[in-house]
Amino acid sequence: MRGKLVVGNWKMNGGLAANAALLSALVAEWKPQAGRELAVCVPYPYLAQAQGALAGTTIAWGAQDVSEHDAGAFTGEVSARMLAEFGCRYAIVGHSERRQYFGDTDAIVAAKARAALTAGITPIACVGETLDERERRMTEAVVLRQLDAVLATVGGEASKLVVAYEPVWAIGTGRTASPAEAQAVHATLRARLANARAADIRLLYGGSVKADNAAALFAMADIDGGLIGGASLKDAEFLAIARA
Ligand code: PEP
Repeated sequence: MRGKLVVGNWKMNGGLAANAALLSALVAEWKPQAGRELAVCVPYPYLAQAQGALAGTTIAWGAQDVSEHDAGAFTGEVSARMLAEFGCRYAIVGHSERRQYFGDTDAIVAAKARAALTAGITPIACVGETLDERERRMTEAVVLRQLDAVLATVGGEASKLVVAYEPVWAIGTGRTASPAEAQAVHATLRARLANARAADIRLLYGGSVKADNAAALFAMADIDGGLIGGASLKDAEFLAIARA
């Protein structure tokens, strides 16, 4: 049976003092439960802090991106091997903000997923359509194109992925896909994953998930948890989502 997973994406937020307070609240308040996992994906400079605060707890940590390269003259990049040294369990790849502002193409996202897997890190591969694409009824074509690029590159390792459906129009906007809208896309993704012998991987929903809408979304048959942006910065809100 698939477990539930809730992952916080801090984006480019935080500071040593605020992080310490947030992490210690999570450690104090999160009660481990079979089949439920909690994780935070923090900015690179805070990985050591997350590792220090969360090592030995049931809360995992990870990064928000990873280089597709192994090592060498790639100024500013951070390799999967480096993330593994900091105990990262997860690395987000293909977040829409990376695709939109930093030129991450489907091919780059797929290469990043493979680099993470090679280092023993679980990629959280994000897919999602823009508002314009949704209005032109291209949602399915877009998310399947994005997913197929990753599947083609990771080959037989597809069952080691986590995939997150994040409609771009719902990220940070306060607009959420309805549970039925999200479920319809998740079912499409699940069917494609079944063809790649990865039907049972965890499929997360992301986009303005809050404590008051999480339970309805997570109750859907193919939604196995969430990727949470803004609400992951507030411990009580994030924990309420994780418990939903
Ligand atoms: C995200 O950054 O992945 C995200 C879903 O953001 P938010 O929850 O703020 O919409």
